[in-house]
Amino acid sequence: MISGDILKELSDIVGQGHLIADQDRLPEFGSDGTKLTAMPDAVVFPGTSREVSRILELATREQFPVIPRGAGSGMSGGAVPVKGGVVMAMNRFDRILEIDRENFIARVEPGVITAHLQERVEKSGLFYPPDPASAHISTIGGNVAECAGGLRAVKYGVTRDYVLGLTVVLPTGQILKTGVETMKGVAGYDLTRLIVGSEGTLAVITAITLRLVPKPEAQKTMLAFFPDVSSALRAASGVISERIVPTALEFMDRRSIECVRQEIDLSIPDEAGSMLLMEIDGDRDLVERETKKIGSVCRRHRALSFQEASDKHDTERFWEARRNISPSLYRLRPHKVSEDIVVPRSRMDELVSYLGKIERDYGLPIPAFGHAGDGNLHVNIMYDRERKGESEQAQLIVQVLFRKVIEMGGTITGEHGIGITKAPYLRMEISRAGIELMARIKKAFDPRGILNPGKIFPT
Ligand SMILES: Cc1cc2nc3c(=O)[nH]c(=O)nc-3n(C[C@H](O)[C@H](O)[C@H](O)COP(=O)(O)OP(=O)(O)OC[C@H]3O[C@@H](n4cnc5c(N)ncnc54)[C@H](O)[C@@H]3O)c2cc1C
Repeated sequence: MISGDILKELSDIVGQGHLIADQDRLPEFGSDGTKLTAMPDAVVFPGTSREVSRILELATREQFPVIPRGAGSGMSGGAVPVKGGVVMAMNRFDRILEIDRENFIARVEPGVITAHLQERVEKSGLFYPPDPASAHISTIGGNVAECAGGLRAVKYGVTRDYVLGLTVVLPTGQILKTGVETMKGVAGYDLTRLIVGSEGTLAVITAITLRLVPKPEAQKTMLAFFPDVSSALRAASGVISERIVPTALEFMDRRSIECVRQEIDLSIPDEAGSMLLMEIDGDRDLVERETKKIGSVCRRHRALSFQEASDKHDTERFWEARRNISPSLYRLRPHKVSEDIVVPRSRMDELVSYLGKIERDYGLPIPAFGHAGDGNLHVNIMYDRERKGESEQAQLIVQVLFRKVIEMGGTITGEHGIGITKAPYLRMEISRAGIELMARIKKAFDPRGILNPGKIFPT
């Protein structure tokens, strides 16, 4: 519990109106996309790096937890204040500082909503490719802290591939610049890469320098339905074998299709057992040629239907199917455990077959969808807390699934991070020596353990 004196000091640092300690308003800052909840003691809204620094100095001196928070859309509980303390909400850091068209660079504050940055950059004729499905709600700071992936990762990579440099505040209060503002730079250890994906446990990010690329001239979205998973995944491999790298190559299994079918306006063949949603970009001629090739690859692999979006409206309708999957799955059961495992692309079919086996063995529905282009599958274990034994079954499935994924040469999280939900399983993937080294790095940044405690490390 934080004392009245400390609350007063915090309020003096951030100024009037930028601190919440009212019990009625705190719950809205205690949860994230996982819906897991814990109550903070207070929420502060700093407006400058200097204020962040003074808050962290105070926290280190008085030993209370500080939990950085973007939009709270995280899917592993990273922003949940599991040990209480002060949530540091970054909403006031909401400026796009500069779009440098000559050097293809954007300088932004962390509280900027990802989609707002994308729009501004595109107005300048440039492109910021990382595109998490949550782009309209998540912040760029949260994306950097989680190393968000997203729909275009198959062609363009993930957030880390675009972060050139950061301004950060260490838990001790030191303000530090990492990285470069140029396209190249190798001076010293790569602290930027270390902080990207560190889930708010090493430093608070207060400014970000991002690399941009030219905006592609044209793009095309396509949708194909197949009778079964194997045909769709073979078609996905077939597209890549043609040396076409789509910007998006999204997959949906039969159960996901059945759920989403009831919610959207799209013609879906009755026998559809899987779906591919594909997008390509580039210059106009290339996009046209590749669209034709993709159509013939899909038909060669028994596509039941193949549709090209002819305008923005079609594109939106196709993407609506993808966006609606996640909420529509609650038709199966009221609760879900949502995992984002990755396996080598060539072994996705094997993994999807394995999911069928564990569905039969454990008796819970496990719809899967996700990024077929990079082997990143969102596996959803649906259960009902009120039904006897289902919560326990769901937890058992997670273990069995993770074991299989690691055995296949994959990872337990492609983009959502470890946070609290996967902390108990980190040892399955990272060796003891690896975790000990990470713990020493954490200690070097945060000697008193005040920044986002209870995350990543297994207890
Ligand atoms: C519908 C939906 C779709 C999604 N799709 C994707 C997807 O396609 N790809 C993907 O990768 N993720 C996806 N996510 C997950 C989530 O949106 C991302 O992890 C996103 O990056 C979180 O951003 P945020 O601003 O909401 O961060 P928060 O949830 O607020 O915080 C996430 C983590 O970042 C830390 N943090 C936040 N800001 C800072 C800062 N300034 N300095 C230091 N640490 C900070 C927090 O402490 C926490 O550990 C999805 C989530 C939802 C709800």
